[in-house]
Amino acid sequence: PDHPLNGAVALVTGASSGIGAATARRLAREGAAVALVARRRDRLDQVAADIAKLGGRAVAVTADITDPECADAAVQNTLDWYGRLDILVNNAGIMLLDTALHTTIEEWDRMISLNVAALLHVTHTAVPHLIYAASTSPRQVADLVNVSSAAGRVARPESSVYSLTKSGLNAFTESLRQELRGEGVRVSVVQPGAVDTELWDHLSDTTRDAARQRLNGIEALRPEDVADAIGYIVTRDRRVAVNEMLVRAADQN
Ligand code: NDP
Repeated sequence: PDHPLNGAVALVTGASSGIGAATARRLAREGAAVALVARRRDRLDQVAADIAKLGGRAVAVTADITDPECADAAVQNTLDWYGRLDILVNNAGIMLLDTALHTTIEEWDRMISLNVAALLHVTHTAVPHLIYAASTSPRQVADLVNVSSAAGRVARPESSVYSLTKSGLNAFTESLRQELRGEGVRVSVVQPGAVDTELWDHLSDTTRDAARQRLNGIEALRPEDVADAIGYIVTRDRRVAVNEMLVRAADQN
């Protein structure tokens, strides 16, 4: 069948759960072969098996991308396996909410190391391959999608460093967009509001309860809702560039 992403290869970081897993399934359904990058092998194998069952193509690439060598190897393994890279979804991220007074410097470091440093390493390795893919693919375009957050637009107490990483990612995206425009590589940012995923499991019980209370019982987004946004962006004709998508839960403030 004639799927929009037939022949394209995608790499999704943080593909073992939540938004990344849903995005991998979505891109596979659109015809892409997908490299699934994260640390938990068993969970990646499960996502790969789901995709295979639906007739798609996926490979599990186990990597802790906060290790620069592993970040580089994850991109390299994808190229070894599928021979090209058309779509990079920088999705892996962590949110540790707390006040500056009560958090530890290690928690701040963990967010910087994954949400920023790891993302930069993967991106730096991938960019030349995206440019090459754009020039050789029948789609005549390649895509880099960064998963930021509504917290990158609006800062609130307890999310100082998380917001720092995500608002910085918005700026990084816009700069890269301008750099790569002439190369046929579209660079986009998706900014989800509250999504029901394991992201919240890393919080202490009290912080999680407080965060839940702020959300005041509203129905959160599902990972598939964000995957839909990403699927929309990367399946546009080459004349269309969706630079930015802010997708909040309908009842969210
Ligand atoms: P999850 O916790 O479900 O997903 C995070 C993913 O990142 C997992 O697949 C995890 O896999 C992976 N990951 C974590 N550390 C590493 C690492 N060192 N190397 C490689 N992969 C790693 O949460 P979400 O799906 O919610 O999060 C995805 C993105 O969406 C994040 O960037 C988050 O900031 C963003 N976001 C989420 C929102 C929400 O409300 N859920 C709202 C706005 C933005 P593993 O543990 O197997 O390595």
